[in-house]
Amino acid sequence: MKYFSVRGTRDILNEEALKLRYLEKLGREVFSSYGHREIVIPTFERTELFTRSIGEVSDIVEKEMYTFQDKKSRSLSLRPEGTAGVVRAYIERNLYRENASLRLYYLGPMFRYERPQAGRYREFRQIGAELFGSDNTRSDVEIINVFVDFFGKVGLKEKNFKLYINNVGCESCRKKYKGIFTESMQKNLSNLCVDCQRRFSKNPFRVLDCKNKQCRNYIENVPLISECLCQDCKKKTEEIKEYLQDLDIKYKEDPYLVRGLDYYTGIVFEIKCGKLGAQDAIAAGGRYDNLVKDMGGHSVPAVGCALGLERLLEVVNSEKIDLPIKKELDVYFACLGERALARGVDLAGGLRCNKVSCQVDYNEKSLKAQLKEANRLQAKFTVIIGDEELQKGVVILRDMEKEKQKEVKPGDLMGAIRGDDKSTSQGRVEQRELGNS
Ligand code: ATP
Ligand code: MG
Repeated sequence: MKYFSVRGTRDILNEEALKLRYLEKLGREVFSSYGHREIVIPTFERTELFTRSIGEVSDIVEKEMYTFQDKKSRSLSLRPEGTAGVVRAYIERNLYRENASLRLYYLGPMFRYERPQAGRYREFRQIGAELFGSDNTRSDVEIINVFVDFFGKVGLKEKNFKLYINNVGCESCRKKYKGIFTESMQKNLSNLCVDCQRRFSKNPFRVLDCKNKQCRNYIENVPLISECLCQDCKKKTEEIKEYLQDLDIKYKEDPYLVRGLDYYTGIVFEIKCGKLGAQDAIAAGGRYDNLVKDMGGHSVPAVGCALGLERLLEVVNSEKIDLPIKKELDVYFACLGERALARGVDLAGGLRCNKVSCQVDYNEKSLKAQLKEANRLQAKFTVIIGDEELQKGVVILRDMEKEKQKEVKPGDLMGAIRGDDKSTSQGRVEQRELGNS
């Protein structure tokens, strides 16, 4: 029996894995520089949490969740997104007491049963950030800014991505809009897809997010929410636009941007990359002032956003952005014979204490084969130890790039690797006797 990875999942290896880890590390740095603290949330929660927060008639809940029963017949689901879990933790852990405006970030895999294609997987990674406790529009802009800042630090240029914004209105705007929207949509209901027809009765706005081409024709002809915004919401949109301009963040208003999640109130936004093709959104988010209360907490306003790491990595690759990823292996030990191996293991241990990465080969292959292996692993150096070296009390240090080698006393190895031949005592590997002594 041969085993294959499950459709929609991927193995990430070598350079791609290094890049992914680098993006995560940089993300942690950038998000914490804005005061966001990490929260590690569980990978699965009670299904009800997602149904309530994301919305019963959303694509995610209706079609995309990995839901299963545990041995006590509880319905659990793998998390399709992070906000629901963060809000659950915020309420459960009384985090509102900790900080008037708490900033959190999370990072990790999400699971959605979607049709796998370029940029769309069934397991994918997100970094997300939430800001609780402030309804000041400066916090909406800060959330956008932290993502834009991160993309800039990754190496994306202004031309590589575009920010789209819209305001989906507060409760009172939506109440007003619902009447106008339903009336207008009702006329065309029979022309919409079956999903839209079914959802329309439960949550009419859901139709706005349908991606079906035929539905879009009708959707684009109904009155817009922007025509129903109250004074306060209009003012907030203007403030956000002004603060974005102050930060020199370019944006485009998109009146059809409504987002697929039910919980948004006010500003919603998406950051898209032209190069990505059909799945062009790398980050998306918005304000959700009612969610904490709806989920059983206090009335706490909040705004958040999440980015897709795989899509970001695709942009990095297609824009040929050089990430500063370190070659993983500093020194490969090619040892010939059992005594040489013992010496190699010992020296490698000393080097690792000095943060030099080392790999020792135990297969006792020929020197030629071992050097080939060192090349394949892109090791910066190879340390060669054979009988002759053991006898002389030295090792051979080979610079793999320059293809040059020299004899080095074990005590000078660290200095030689650092390119400092007159190694200082600080740079020394602890001096040990060679051979059987
Ligand atoms: P899309 O419109 O592409 O379906 P979405 O609105 O469902 O995205 P969100 O729930 O807002 O996405 O998730 C935020 C980000 O996570 C997206 O902008 C995207 O970069 C990434 N993402 C979402 N779904 C997937 C997926 N199936 N595979 C890879 N990345 C994804
Ligand atoms: Mg989606």
